Amino acid sequence: MLGALGGKHVIVAGAGLAGLSAARELERRGATVTLVEARARVGGRVWTLRDGFAAGQHAEAGADLIEGEQTHLRRLARDLGLKTVRILRDSFGFYGPDAKGRRRIHAMSGGLAMVGARIGGLVGDFKLAEQRWDSAIAARLARRSVAEWLDGIHAPLEMKAALRGFRGFFLADPEDLSLIALVEQFASDGTPGRGEILRIRDGNDRLPAEVVRRLRGRVLMRTVLRRIRQTERSVTASIEDDSGRVTEIDGDAIVVAIPASTARHVVFEPSLPEPQQSAIARLRYGPATRLLLQFERRFWKKRGRPLAFGTDLPIGALWDGNEQQARTPGILTFLAGGNASRETRQVLAAEGEAGIVRRLTWLGRPSTLLASKTIVWDDDPWVGGGYAYFDPGFDPLCRAWLARPAGRIVFAGEHTSVRWQGYMNGAIESGLRAAAEADALVASQ
Ligand SMILES: Cc1cc2nc3c(=O)[nH]c(=O)nc-3n(C[C@H](O)[C@H](O)[C@H](O)COP(=O)(O)OP(=O)(O)OC[C@H]3O[C@@H](n4cnc5c(N)ncnc54)[C@H](O)[C@@H]3O)c2cc1C
Repeated sequence: MLGALGGKHVIVAGAGLAGLSAARELERRGATVTLVEARARVGGRVWTLRDGFAAGQHAEAGADLIEGEQTHLRRLARDLGLKTVRILRDSFGFYGPDAKGRRRIHAMSGGLAMVGARIGGLVGDFKLAEQRWDSAIAARLARRSVAEWLDGIHAPLEMKAALRGFRGFFLADPEDLSLIALVEQFASDGTPGRGEILRIRDGNDRLPAEVVRRLRGRVLMRTVLRRIRQTERSVTASIEDDSGRVTEIDGDAIVVAIPASTARHVVFEPSLPEPQQSAIARLRYGPATRLLLQFERRFWKKRGRPLAFGTDLPIGALWDGNEQQARTPGILTFLAGGNASRETRQVLAAEGEAGIVRRLTWLGRPSTLLASKTIVWDDDPWVGGGYAYFDPGFDPLCRAWLARPAGRIVFAGEHTSVRWQGYMNGAIESGLRAAAEADALVASQ
């Protein structure tokens, strides 16, 4: 309820979309907010690169594509007056082996329809359990890897290649991805990359920039959350600035909107319940390298062909990275997820960009390369990967703990979302949820 948090102070750690949405919503509900962010910029995994490209073009280093169903994100963009544009109208193709083992471009839907048909029984069982991760069905699915399942059903080469290509989506190879992640994907969404795809016209970073511009509270940049002490009535956060100075701030509650990969280094006093600690400690983040290549011409643009492709190649998935900008030049964006992240960097180290370009001849004759940027999310100290994924070692009973409040500590972030885990929409939704939870915890007393 508007204003119910009047007179309350809530600390928010992390100025990604989750923390920013939480802060915005907390202020809307009347709270005073202090936002603490480790980096020198807001946005976290939403980061638009504008320098170094010819013709004033830009492209996304992190999150790029907005599915039409990302309703929380679309609402936020509308509220902030940001324009979204439709892109990749012909969805994704796939470059890899066909049924006869010949490598060619074919419809992504072919290999995935095959997966859909073979996984249908498991999806049916999972739906009977209302997709709950505490069901016996979930426990069984969670223990197996996608690769083990593929071997068990003697999957054809084409289907195996399609699921190898899925590492550009899950950021995990079939050997590392739990079968429950794949089953859940088919149960809730079917095949990814169908439907409407959008982008914020002037760069996805306009979203975090506009949210932070409208906040009233203090925003402490280059400041790291180190420790949270809580009593029944308050929380105290120890924060460290970039000169190494540690100070304490008190609040009525705290929203921890940082990835599990960094939350595991925060000291909680008293300790979090054991399954919550274990969930935060065990959650994996998928390796992800983003490569942005600007070419003189969009040589990948061919009549009757999509502008986006999954592949099982070391270069990962690729698509037109700035379709909404002037026709020439053009930026081709690569998302090398899972083992492709390392493989892409090996190609770059051994052969330079020319090695990547050589692997693109199936797309057309490459034009002159004008600019190149590589962003390795695996090496990013404030996330250590692209986004969370569930491996066969993750206990499905632990998942709910990622989003569960602990006293006056509320958790947010992409990894805490169920339907939209791994997406910007999940981050925003989790921030709104965390603000409502803080309200429920604090305002009612
Ligand atoms: C390469 C890549 C491609 C992606 N593609 C898409 C896509 O096409 N579509 C889509 O919807 N999503 C995509 N995503 C996912 C999307 O970016 C994330 O789901 C979302 O941005 C996560 O937001 P968040 O707020 O949960 O986390 P973050 O954005 O990571 O924000 C957390 C913030 O906390 C800060 N922080 C961390 N530790 C501390 C600490 N101890 N103290 C203080 N601050 C701290 C970090 O610096 C960061 O700013 C992609 C992500 C990547 C990396």
